[in-house]
Amino acid sequence: MDTFDDTPELIEEAHRVYETHFAPVTSFERAVFFSWGCTIGDCTFCYMSTQPVGKAPKETKRSDASILAEFILAKKLGWDIGFFTGGIGVLKPDELETLLKVIVQITGEKIWLSVGPIPRPLLLRYQPYIRGVVGSTETINPVLHKIVCPSKPLAPYEKMFEVAGELGLEKAMTFIVGMGETKEDLNLLIEFIRKYDINKIHVYSLIPEKGTMFEHAAIPSKEEQAWWIASLRIVFPTLNIQCGVWEDRVERIAYLLEAGANSISKFKALKLFGKPVAHQIEEEAARAGRMFQGTLVVMPEVDWRGEVDRLDAESELKERIWKCLVQYLERMRKNTQICNTQKNSVVVKNIS
Ligand code: SF4
Repeated sequence: MDTFDDTPELIEEAHRVYETHFAPVTSFERAVFFSWGCTIGDCTFCYMSTQPVGKAPKETKRSDASILAEFILAKKLGWDIGFFTGGIGVLKPDELETLLKVIVQITGEKIWLSVGPIPRPLLLRYQPYIRGVVGSTETINPVLHKIVCPSKPLAPYEKMFEVAGELGLEKAMTFIVGMGETKEDLNLLIEFIRKYDINKIHVYSLIPEKGTMFEHAAIPSKEEQAWWIASLRIVFPTLNIQCGVWEDRVERIAYLLEAGANSISKFKALKLFGKPVAHQIEEEAARAGRMFQGTLVVMPEVDWRGEVDRLDAESELKERIWKCLVQYLERMRKNTQICNTQKNSVVVKNIS
């Protein structure tokens, strides 16, 4: 079994490399989902593999209004869009293209798309709206990959990366630390990144989902997750590296940023906006000497209605977006008020 005693040394070097190539900033990247179902459904680490076989993935499709409301929020709160994603095969190309058209009106820029391996004709179709594609590769150790993604082979993603490169699109991949890869697999990962000229990698740490083969697995340590990030940062000084951090491990964010990660993701930012754990993320960024771009805690002054009205969309859709937006905003404001009340009561207690 690997040990990660060498991580602090690697971090020192990776930190120097990061400082040479990037400004001392970081940001939160939101992955926006259009569904929570999946037609593959058997990746052995994934929550989807615990769902009843008969559950139709399309039933888990989210409303277009709710998706677009989330994009408006993300834009105005200064969050980057990690990617737009959802179950493979859930949206028809027409549906996806229609959504993408409105999404880029909101974001004002092309986005990353993660919808499984996309063939050339569809890449061409989505190209006006996307800056790049994300392959949910998870691990590139071939033996481990067969175990954790039995029905999601790497080859179609590799093909997509090749075609994306030909079309001038950027390429991103995912990597989950803690499923059984060893330090030796770093070389495989480096080769893969080089071969497909990967621009960005999302380095997550395993979430031991109930009912999966990893249910009783240990959460990978911060040293283990940082080891992969720092090792990649040293070999690829300008690679965009994102660290995925669930809310149970935000205390490791400063460490992962020092290891050379650019940005933070995986946090349930809408649900937990303004809560103490969201404040903790911004504090962690500061601890790592990074300026946090955007906000997870302060509701900005925005003409939200105006943001909806300016969209080039049917008025019926705009009304539905507005209703969703109001619901999100109410919950987020409530969170910030509760948090402020708690802070005030702490101050009062300290005084008395
Ligand atoms: S393809 Fe993605 S969503 Fe579907 S089972 Fe695999 S990891 Fe889960």
